[in-house]
Parts: sequence; C-alpha cells; structure tokens
Amino acid sequence: MIIDDQNYDLIIVGTGAGGGTLAHKLAAAGKKILILERGDFMSAAAQNRSDVDVFKRDQYHAPEQWYDSAGEPFSPQMNYAVGGNTKIYNGALLRLREQDFEAVKHQGGISPAWCLKYADFAPYYTEAEALYQVHGQSSSDPTEPSHSSEYPFPAIEHQAQVQDVVTAIEKQGLHPASIPLSLNLQAEDPTGDAEMYGINPALKYPNVTLKTGAKVVCLHTNPSGRVVKGVEAEIGGQCYLFLANIIVLACGAVNSAALLLNSRSDLHPQGLANSSDLVGRNLMKGLMTAVVQLSKKQNSGVFSRSIYVNDFYWGDQDFAYPMGHIYNTGGLLTDPIFTEAPPMLSVLAKFMPGFGIKQLATHSIGWWAQTADLPDLDNRVRLIGNKIQINYTPNNTEAHDRLIYRWIEILKGVEKSIDGFQPGVLHPKGEAPLAVMAHQCGTCRFGEDPQTSVLDPNCRAHDLDNLYVVDGSFFPSNASVSPALTIMANALRVGEHLIDQLQ
Ligand SMILES: Cc1cc2nc3c(=O)[nH]c(=O)nc-3n(C[C@H](O)[C@H](O)[C@H](O)COP(=O)(O)OP(=O)(O)OC[C@H]3O[C@@H](n4cnc5c(N)ncnc54)[C@H](O)[C@@H]3O)c2cc1C
Repeated sequence: MIIDDQNYDLIIVGTGAGGGTLAHKLAAAGKKILILERGDFMSAAAQNRSDVDVFKRDQYHAPEQWYDSAGEPFSPQMNYAVGGNTKIYNGALLRLREQDFEAVKHQGGISPAWCLKYADFAPYYTEAEALYQVHGQSSSDPTEPSHSSEYPFPAIEHQAQVQDVVTAIEKQGLHPASIPLSLNLQAEDPTGDAEMYGINPALKYPNVTLKTGAKVVCLHTNPSGRVVKGVEAEIGGQCYLFLANIIVLACGAVNSAALLLNSRSDLHPQGLANSSDLVGRNLMKGLMTAVVQLSKKQNSGVFSRSIYVNDFYWGDQDFAYPMGHIYNTGGLLTDPIFTEAPPMLSVLAKFMPGFGIKQLATHSIGWWAQTADLPDLDNRVRLIGNKIQINYTPNNTEAHDRLIYRWIEILKGVEKSIDGFQPGVLHPKGEAPLAVMAHQCGTCRFGEDPQTSVLDPNCRAHDLDNLYVVDGSFFPSNASVSPALTIMANALRVGEHLIDQLQ
C-alpha cells in the first residue's frame, strides 16, 4: 500500500449532491481538503440526453453488478462521475414539506419524525437554491412550505402542449405548480449539477485537491477505534492510504453504507459506525410509476419537466392518508428513469433499438407518480463477501396505486376537454424497477439516540469522533418529493458545523 505523505484537514469521499455541495461550502475556509471520487469527469456528449440513445440498454448504469434478495444480479442505474447522480438527474429541486419532518400516519404505517424540523432546514434550502440557481415560482400549491424569499430565478415556461394540460387541470379544481429547477441554460446539458455548482468552483481554491478514479474501499481507525485515521482507496490498480483529521462520506446511500460495512475490524465487528446495527437498514427509494398520455400532436421529445401537482400529497376525499407527488417527465428523450420503467416505450426500445422510438416518444406526454415508502429494518444494503446485496420490498403500495388511478382519472378529464389527445385510449404505465436507485436514502439515519440512529444531528457517526456522512443516507424517513435539494441543504448545514470544527 502506498501511504500518501500529506496530512489533510478533511477528506470528502464522493462528489454528488452531498459531497459536491459540501466541497463548495468548505473550500473558502482555507483548510487542506482532499476529494476522492471513483468516477471521472463526464464529457459534454455523455451528458447530453436528447436522442434515442437514452433508451439504449443500461445507459447510465454503473459498471458493476449488485444482487437482489434472491441473489440475482442486476446493474444499478447509478452514475459514477464527478457530480455523481446529479450529472444525470433532472434538476427538480423541491423542498420537503413542513409536515414531512414530523411523524406522519401513512396507509402503510408511521413515517418517523426527524430530529430537526423544517425551520432548521429553511435557511439552508434558501442557500442551496441560490447555489444551484433554482428557477421557480412560489405558487398556490396547497403543500408549498413557507419561503423567506422568492426563488432566485423565474420559473421557465411550460412547453405549449403542457401549458394546455396545465390549464385543463386547473379547470378540474387542482393546483398545478411550476417545478423548481436547477438550470444553467447551456445547450449541451441545461441542468445545473454538483460538478458545475459544487466541485468546479471549489477547485479554484489552491487548498482543494480532487483525485478522480479513486475508489475508496475501506476506512481504518486508530487503536482505540474512536477515530478514523486512514482512508484506503484503489487508484489505477494501486492501493493508497490517505490521512486526514476529519473524514466525510458522500458516496450515496447504498455505497456509503457498503463502505462502512466493509470497514469492519476487531473493534467494529459489525462494520464501522454500526454499534446500533442500523447501517444499511431502512433503505428507502420511493415508489415511482410512469404514466403515458399518447398525443396526436408531435413534440420535440426534448424539453424540461416543468409542472408538479401536489393536491393528493396528503390524501384525497375518500383516502385519509398521504398519496404523493405528480410531475411531468419533460420530453421523453431526456428522462433516463422513464426508459427503465416497463412495459412502455422502453420495452420496444430494447427489442427495436432506434426504430419507432422517436416517433412514440415525440407523440407522448409522460408523468411520474411518486409516493414515499416507509423505513423498514429489512429493506437493507448488505455485503455478501464483497458483493452489494439490496433487499428491498416496496411498502405503502396502496397509497401509490390510488395516486396512479386518481391521476389517470384526471388525465381522462383533460383529454375530453382539450384537443390533441385521443380520449378513451389506454394510459400505458410502468413502475421503476429495483435497478432504479435514483432516490435511495435512509441507510445511516440521523437522530439523537445512538441506539436508534447511526448519525447524530450534525451527521457525525455516534460511534466515531471524526466521521461524518452527508449524502442521502441520513434521511430517517422519506418524502414524496424528490430528495436532492434536501441532501444539498443538509450538506450546507453540516458544512457550517465542520467549519467550526476546523477552526
Ligand atoms: C436519472 C436520475 C434522475 C434524477 N432526478 C432527480 C430530480 O430531478 N430531483 C431530485 O431531487 N433528485 C433526482 N435524482 C436523485 C438525485 O440525483 C440524488 O438524490 C442525489 O444525486 C443523491 O446525492 P448523494 O450525494 O446522496 O449521491 P450521488 O449524487 O449519487 O453521489 C455519490 C458520489 O459518490 C461517488 N462514490 C460512490 N462510491 C464511492 C467510493 N467507494 N469511492 C469514491 N467515490 C464513490 C459516486 O461516483 C458519486 O460521485 C435523480 C437521480 C437519477 C439517477
């Protein structure tokens, strides 16, 4: 093993929503920071999701296999690159709703309260929205949480046919709202991400070093077991050891848990930070189903998502439990998750690559129905040897099914009231499969009690003095809105604490 001769103030592992944002927050503090990222920079061409290539099998999947609970291998849709999954995300940056931080009774069980509340996160949401140049507009959405100020940039306009649908939905008494988006408006890839707004500005500081192609495999503690001393990484087939005073993991909820489990030792036989036996458990990824409206009018297939509907977020007249969040996919040639959800266009794509897909995709309007799943000890990341196993059984499914069918009823009403659609035509729908790990969270939940949480409220491991986790792992419960803004806001919050620690 090659021992690096530097001693860093802090090492960040991973450069996605959590790690990239944290790097930006800490860079100006002048401390010596090393960032280790297993992926590389993505070319502009690889980021461009605007043609049928996005339907190619396993586009944007990690070059490795994970295993389901039956031991069957699958290739997870994960992006290992500078910027992490934000390089392929859709940039919809929503705040959790105030009630999401409280204990909520769902049809499938109780979603536990967070140890911090919306008011604790609100200033960091504002900071994250400014950093990621969020374009949005406070709206009449009944679930909209309070904001101290308007979004930094105005919302984008809806694509013409989507605008017609918005108007028709409003006529049904619903409250469609502009979805807040991180944008940079560059032609190749118009979404703002953690490379652009996190890592690149951080690297302008001479005290910040990034090593790409550096896969961290294990953390080593001092003899007492209370302090992480070394970070072991594989770079170009060689094994390196890096030393720092503070270590921050931001590998994503699955990989951070796997790394902790892989760092077991005599002092930490269940894995590092795992005296609670909760590392890897309570994995959540949300329930996501795509619904397609087949359109007589052609669209470009390449436009941003722009609308969400939260009228059923907390329930409906005849269902007193939360149902979830609806948003449009944007052009179907720009949504990598859509292409994964059988049995729709993606199936055709796999059997007839290139043929007819563009025709179908440009004659469709896509919708996502998204419902929070609940933490479950048996939904977990495990290591079998050095293989990652994902045990995941969806829960809270009735609420999700009701959301889908309620939404299809709304779409039928739309199709009767405006031109451009074929009323009475079926609405193909498909659930995101296990391989879609886009919204993974919850594997190292934060909380006050070391017996029921892995991290303390500052996201420091209860068991260690200098180990932090700032990716999606810290979520104690999931929400129906997407997680990235909350991961970014949390990284800024923890960053403030770390700046104090580094003084
Ligand atoms: C197609 C797609 C669309 C999405 N759209 C949205 C959206 O519109 N809105 C939203 O809120 N969310 C969206 N998401 C989810 C969002 O991207 C994630 O919630 C967010 O990126 C998670 O942040 P993270 O920091 O936890 O992990 P990531 O962003 O995944 O970052 C983890 C980083 O760690 C690196 N890494 C992993 N293991 C190691 C290791 N052992 N050593 C070194 N480096 C390592 C990875 O390469 C990566 O750079 C989407 C996700 C996908 C895949």
